[in-house]
Amino acid sequence: MKTTKQATLKTLDLSNDTKVVKTTCAYCGVGCGLNINISKKNQTIKVTGDSEHPANYGRLCSKGSALAETLSLEGRLLYPEVNGARVSWPSAISSVSEGFKKIIAEHGPDSVAFYASGQLLTEDYYVANKLMKGFIGSGNIDTNSRLCMSSSVAGHKRAFGSDTVPNCYDDLDHAELIVLIGANSAWCHPVLFQRIQCAKEKNSKLKVVVIDPRKTNTCDIADLHLQINSGSDTAVFNGLLAYLNQNKKLDKGYIENFTEGLEQAILSAEKDAGTIQQVAQACKVPAVNIERFYQWFANTDKSMSLYSQGINQSSSGTDKVNAIINCHLATGRIGKLGSGPLSLTGQPNAMGGREVGGLANQLAAHMGFEKTDLKLVSEFWKTNTLTSNQGLPAVQLFDAVAEGKVKAVWIMATNPVSSLPNADKVKRALEQCELVVVSDCVDKTDTLDLAHIKLPAAGWSEKDGTVTNSERRISRQRAFNPLAGEAKPDWWIISEVAKGMGYEESFNYQSSADIFREHAALSAFKNDDTNKLRDFNLKGLMNISDTHYEELEPIQWPVLEQGDTGTSRLFAKGKFFTENRKAKFIAISTRPAAHKPSELYPFILNTGRVRDQWHSMTRTGLSPRLNLHKPEPFVEIHPEDLSKLQLKHGELAVLNSQWGTMLARVEESKDIKPGMVFAPMHWTFQLSSQGRVGAVVNPEIDPISFQPESKHTPIRISGFESTWQGFILSTQKLNLDSVNYRVDVRGEKYWRYEIADQSMSVNKLKTVVQAQIEQDIEDKDSLSWQHHEDPANQLLRLACFIDGKLELVLMVQNNHSTLPERAWLSSLFSEADNMPEIRPTLLSGKPPVGSANVGKQICACFNVGENTIRDFICEQKLTTVSEVGKACNAGTNCGACVPEIKAIIQDSLLESANN
Ligand code: SF4
Repeated sequence: MKTTKQATLKTLDLSNDTKVVKTTCAYCGVGCGLNINISKKNQTIKVTGDSEHPANYGRLCSKGSALAETLSLEGRLLYPEVNGARVSWPSAISSVSEGFKKIIAEHGPDSVAFYASGQLLTEDYYVANKLMKGFIGSGNIDTNSRLCMSSSVAGHKRAFGSDTVPNCYDDLDHAELIVLIGANSAWCHPVLFQRIQCAKEKNSKLKVVVIDPRKTNTCDIADLHLQINSGSDTAVFNGLLAYLNQNKKLDKGYIENFTEGLEQAILSAEKDAGTIQQVAQACKVPAVNIERFYQWFANTDKSMSLYSQGINQSSSGTDKVNAIINCHLATGRIGKLGSGPLSLTGQPNAMGGREVGGLANQLAAHMGFEKTDLKLVSEFWKTNTLTSNQGLPAVQLFDAVAEGKVKAVWIMATNPVSSLPNADKVKRALEQCELVVVSDCVDKTDTLDLAHIKLPAAGWSEKDGTVTNSERRISRQRAFNPLAGEAKPDWWIISEVAKGMGYEESFNYQSSADIFREHAALSAFKNDDTNKLRDFNLKGLMNISDTHYEELEPIQWPVLEQGDTGTSRLFAKGKFFTENRKAKFIAISTRPAAHKPSELYPFILNTGRVRDQWHSMTRTGLSPRLNLHKPEPFVEIHPEDLSKLQLKHGELAVLNSQWGTMLARVEESKDIKPGMVFAPMHWTFQLSSQGRVGAVVNPEIDPISFQPESKHTPIRISGFESTWQGFILSTQKLNLDSVNYRVDVRGEKYWRYEIADQSMSVNKLKTVVQAQIEQDIEDKDSLSWQHHEDPANQLLRLACFIDGKLELVLMVQNNHSTLPERAWLSSLFSEADNMPEIRPTLLSGKPPVGSANVGKQICACFNVGENTIRDFICEQKLTTVSEVGKACNAGTNCGACVPEIKAIIQDSLLESANN
């Protein structure tokens, strides 16, 4: 078993003390370039934005800025394990390869599957796809990208004949109308949001329209917000196509030369959408606003449509994508400076996965399962076992595991037990699966807990390869830390398993550069006019040297010749990748969501991301400052609904669908329509007892893209009747598994637990907590407890000091509304030691007069609380966001908290006017 070739870092040596490694952010599909500033003297790492990277030009959001806080070895999977026992790599590889071989021999290649992730690098993905489709001979490799952008892939392929993103981020600087559809970019693609904000400041002509059933922070820069009914996007864009036609705003030249199928699409659009009044009625927004949007679009040549999960995560997501693209084709606004559709991908390398065939219905290098493609790939890979069939996409794949048809599954860098819809079913499926292999960089996830074989994979800072962002830009991800423990790159692990299965010659890679060259060569193989021309082509990089690969600058594919600087835009002059090189209009009719609200399940649950967390929080959850903005799973509910439900802000609610249940803290919000609620996707069993929204989400899929409908699940809501509720702040990590409701939040030098229970007495809770604090203390005299209790009213307040230093604070009572604020109590854990002055009032939870209480966190980048901002506003008579920024830094980095700062300013001004 050979070791991997060590890559030389692309570093800039600024001084003897500091070196800078250029790499790419671990999180969203914006794909920001980073400078990793490594101080050898102080052994510190600082992450800053790379001012030369064209995706972000130096900007970063709160998550990217906090990456250095997520690099510790705590919680890492450091060595391979088989059935709970540590084993060597050769033994682990043999267990995987023999396990897969045995099941394939008995039940055939379709009895096994891989489930990959947009977190993998392109090189990892390439090798995984090659092994499953090319050599095992099954199409059963799918990816968590199925959950985020497969509707865009399907929409692109229907319209363009290929999965091509026609435009790029620079277009945002030139557009005069930017339409954001189902995309809360202020929180989910913050650096693009900053770019739009900046473009708006520079260009007074630029208008921004947000189309979203929720009033999100993205609306802060909107000239118009269409707060449409969930699922009515198709009506909006069919109506727009009809309007463009009726008002003679079509680009006849472009349509004639480069497209086909317009007539049918218009007929369908007119029939589906009807008049502007009818569109307005379907969307439940004023007709005047629909008309205003249509006028702006019709009269603005430089129009961009950016869309994300609000479009994709739907049982008619592909149709919605095509309804948008139809409007761009009809106006010839595609692939041109400042105009075109742009799908925003969620994950750092969802696009790279698409390029290598990470989806079960793609082959490799953007090829499909047509005979010519199969022949070409078989020839290139020198294999006679290439599968000729598509495999099972994510939801069906785990259904097949549940049915026992898939008997071995290898899950790579993802957590389907939390993230897939109907997640409890996925859990049950894996519990009874014959062989579950999980490769990951962390040692505990809801999925790893069910693995027979655990394989330690390289973490973000140790990975070496490439990723592709939403604008087709390939960027290098460079390792700047050594591999942790016995962790290995994913491509190495997969290649070793392939060799163990007997495919040595085809997987004998020495480095990620070897794989990249092969991937580029496949993209260029017979990719010319004499064959079927394909969009994805890296011919210019297929002979890249190790040195050039190491130094590769960010570049947008296609890259057709050596020395090319890449391709920013495509399709301005047609040349689509269909048989006749013409784009296809798709006739679209509205298809209602599969599951409608009913008497039993009257609310529609929408799901999504929060500002400072990423996916299942395995990394962002390590950063105390990222945990403060939204520390608990929550559900946003309109006040009218709250009053019908007899629920109040801050109480706990049970969210129940026909698939499962979760608990969430109620957030009253007028930003959501009555009848609709929103809950975040991030919490797993690792940090919450019942916060997995995936358990509630319905498993309905789009019939074309197979993407699940994560934004439309009928649910019912009820109050969680607890005996007591409260929180614990503790320097020690506590085991509170016996408590009904529990959320763990990592803080700065403490753990915070939000807790509630329906049957446990407060006395029992006290015993559970005290026993854990006292168990490791030899000198019991060093311990001192303060307590105040009233068991009849379920009231318990405890504080524990060890040698005068605060160890624990516990506050529970029979209702949530009068619990003390956490901010001041949490701040006490950062105090040096003895705090006699706070002891008299500690159990009241109120700071002594004159103490600082920063309040709820608003700015994650500089960790500034609401009370601090209010104090500055009041003392210095501040009236603008920039004045607040100057006073306390809040809002001056990523700017994602600016809408909240504006709201605080308004509220403070109102308050002072009333006084
Ligand atoms: Fe990372 Fe934020 Fe940039 Fe996304 S926007 S790539 S999370 S820094």
